[in-house]
Amino acid sequence: MGDSSCIAPSTNRLEGKVAVITGGASGIGESTTHLFWKNGAKVVIADIQDELGQAISDKLGENVCYIHCDVSNEEEVINLVDTTVAKFGHLDIMFNNAGILDRPFGSILDTTKSHLERVLGINVVGSFLGAKHAARVMVPQRKGCILFTASACASIAGIATHPYTVSKHGIVGLSKNLAAELGQYGIRVNCISPSGVVTGLSPRHGATLEQMEASQHQLGNLKGKILRVEDVAKAVLYLASDDGDYVSGHNLVVDGGFSVVNPTILKAVGLIH
Ligand code: NAD
Repeated sequence: MGDSSCIAPSTNRLEGKVAVITGGASGIGESTTHLFWKNGAKVVIADIQDELGQAISDKLGENVCYIHCDVSNEEEVINLVDTTVAKFGHLDIMFNNAGILDRPFGSILDTTKSHLERVLGINVVGSFLGAKHAARVMVPQRKGCILFTASACASIAGIATHPYTVSKHGIVGLSKNLAAELGQYGIRVNCISPSGVVTGLSPRHGATLEQMEASQHQLGNLKGKILRVEDVAKAVLYLASDDGDYVSGHNLVVDGGFSVVNPTILKAVGLIH
């Protein structure tokens, strides 16, 4: 996970900004917490893994704090946003990143209503609540940035379970619809859609980290590079910072071209082996 041994922020692309990162205690959220902090932001980590979240906050110091928040619980999301504003004065970036992956990968015939409801309850309802309560404080500010983590499975079919795929399509739709409504208040809304990156969410099946990364690399389109959480965090930073200040309603796919390539055709015409 990011270079947490750094003592001080190294660049300042988010100087003066206050960010909330849901699911900030692990994986993509943890890496983004480090990168935002290095870039001068004040960061609130919101998660249900209290020990992990608190440990990151303790390590990074006074500009990072941890708040327990189950994103599917509206009272806890209200508390998250209100405590952030009370502590740091305002809220500039809301990164709705917390999510779960149901498993195993299976047929719709084996997928239950409760599978679907559980995944939607966290991935979609949690993202909706985070966006709603961020907008509540951003609209009067007349500025802000709302981000979501969707997935490459919203761009190419057959790579994730049905509930998870439904949830990520929902997030892309929500993101675009919010961009349409909130642009009038100067609020940008975007999402990031990574392909497979090894995190706490990844099914392990007894494999080592190296084996899991090798397997992702084999499936990927872009060779010579393994997608890591730090790469996703860099895309989040672009959208969160002034570098992306006219970008809204966009789904930034971070997948090395995986979702736009059909290798079957390329193999058939002899362009790849
Ligand atoms: P992760 O498991 O390492 O991180 C997810 C975090 O969300 C964890 O810290 C977890 O405790 C937290 N979380 C889960 N339920 C929560 C809840 N109800 N309230 C608050 N926090 C909760 O996995 P990750 O891969 O970093 O996942 C981050 C996001 O990236 C997810 O939305 C996931 O769907 C998405 N994503 C992951 C991949 C991948 O290959 N890892 C690919 C595309 C999208």
